[in-house]
Amino acid sequence: MGKTMVCDCEERRGVKIDSERNFLEYKSFFEKKVRRNLFKDVEVKLPYHIYIGENEIEEWFSDKWFLCKECGQIWEFDAPDFPALGWIRKITKEDLKNRRLEKEKGEKIALNLNLKITHFENLKFWNW
Ligand SMILES: [Zn+2]
Repeated sequence: MGKTMVCDCEERRGVKIDSERNFLEYKSFFEKKVRRNLFKDVEVKLPYHIYIGENEIEEWFSDKWFLCKECGQIWEFDAPDFPALGWIRKITKEDLKNRRLEKEKGEKIALNLNLKITHFENLKFWNW
């Protein structure tokens, strides 16, 4: 290996997006990374929340997943729809596995995958 990592995914944490201004800043951050070929805009494959009602199952997907081409980290990005806040968070391999498992279990359990995303709780502002 011996390759120097140039990304800073490790130091970054998730954040809630509580203003239009922040949203535009974060959006532009990701767009720049994609333009520079550091991040890839990938398909959002799994929901972050599954609501299981009497007669229906609703799956909630975030707006974007960005894959860091350097370290493989997936960043999940959901735009705010005020008064609902948006957010950015890391998805770990563990998170992905949990989401797949919960999805496969299907209608037996109601779950909120949101709560399982540990990085979401560990909020701090990013340093640009
Ligand atoms: Zn990275």
